Formats: sequence, structure tokens, C-alpha cells
Amino acid sequence: MVKSGRENDKVEIIAVTKTVDVDRIQEALSLGLRNIGENRPQELVRKYDIIGKGPNYHMIGHLQTNKVKYIIDKVSLIHSLDRISLAEELDKRAKMHNLIINTLIQVNVAEEDSKFGLKVEEVMPFIESILKYNNIKIKGLMTIAPFSENPEEVRWVFKTLRQLRDSIVREKFDNVEMGILSMGMTNDYTIAVEEGANMVRIGTGLFGKRNY
Ligand SMILES: *Cc1c(COP(=O)(O)O)cnc(C)c1O
Repeated sequence: MVKSGRENDKVEIIAVTKTVDVDRIQEALSLGLRNIGENRPQELVRKYDIIGKGPNYHMIGHLQTNKVKYIIDKVSLIHSLDRISLAEELDKRAKMHNLIINTLIQVNVAEEDSKFGLKVEEVMPFIESILKYNNIKIKGLMTIAPFSENPEEVRWVFKTLRQLRDSIVREKFDNVEMGILSMGMTNDYTIAVEEGANMVRIGTGLFGKRNY
């Protein structure tokens, strides 16, 4: 991992289990995977109720404010914090459960209309405006790169997120950590890791094509 310039070369794999049934998830867990990623609160809760507390559950998809209450005490990391109303609700529900909710800020680096997330230049002011929410812990950044047959074409997306992370670190905000860069999926994770990802979200690469 010399290419990435990382000091600690650990990359955490999030097994993206959306649409994957519980039996196959259990099999993956028995092989040593410890992190499950789901993009729908309802599906996450259904699987949590069967599988239980063992693995870490990651909310990787767009999160509606009215669904926060179902998952707040079940997830170890929310990858999709992208607006103030969501921060407010997360903070409120976390307080009710007397817990600190770990979050990543989702950044729509390529500014695709089809994707959620803040624009790069919106991230710094966003962080400043949610510092007052004491039950939210910001742990880093997340992005989804545009799909490309040739993932080299989206290297700039990952590089941009890393540079944004570095500029946030330089601000030395109280209570803001930037230890996690969640970027890279089946198609592009090798490029993402080269650009500094330490959390990758892999679905089809582990479980095969999804049947929706
Ligand atoms: C589905 C999904 C993934 C996994 O995608 P694959 O191409 O199957 O690896 C990663 N991140 C998010 C946010 C997803 O929704």
C-alpha cells in the first residue's frame, strides 16, 4: 500500500448485504466478515432482529428523517449524513437512547443529480453548523463515485474526497474526527484504496449479482 501513502494500511470491508438473504449473510459472517451494510432501514431492522448484535451494522443509503428512530440503537455507523434536518433528528434520537451516534458525511463529489450528498464546498459550513449537536460524532467522509467501465476515470473523485478530508483536519474542529474515508465499491475499490480509502463497501464482489 505504498501507493496510498497511508501510515496504517488497514482497510475495513463492509459487506453490502442489501437484497441478500439472511442465510447467506450468516455464511459470510462465519467466514469472518464483521461489517454489514444496508441501504434500507426496514431491511436493516428485519435482518438485525434475526442475526442480532454480533456484526456491526452500517447504514449506507439515503436516510429519511422519519426512519431514524428505527435504527438509531442498532447501527454502529451512518454513512449518509447529508443535511441539517437529519443531523437534528439523529441528535435528538441519540439523546433519547443516551448514546453517541457515529456518522460520516456523504459528499456528492461528482455532483450527480441521481445521488445524495453535499457538494464539496458545502461540507465545511455544514460541519460548522452541526458542531452543536453533542450526541453526533463525525468520524469521516463517504462518497459514491459515478459508475465507469474504466474506474481510472473516477480516481479524481477519490482524490478530491481525500483532499477535502485533509483540509478539514487542518481546521482542528473540536470533536470532529476524520479517521474514516468510506469510498470504493466492487467496480472501483482498488483505485479508491490507492487514493486513501480505509473503508470499502463491497456487494456484488462478495455475493454476486443482486436480484431486485
Ligand atoms: C449497493 C451499494 C454498494 C455496493 O455496490 P457493489 O457495486 O455491489 O459493490 C456500496 N455502497 C452503496 C452506498 C451502495 O448502495
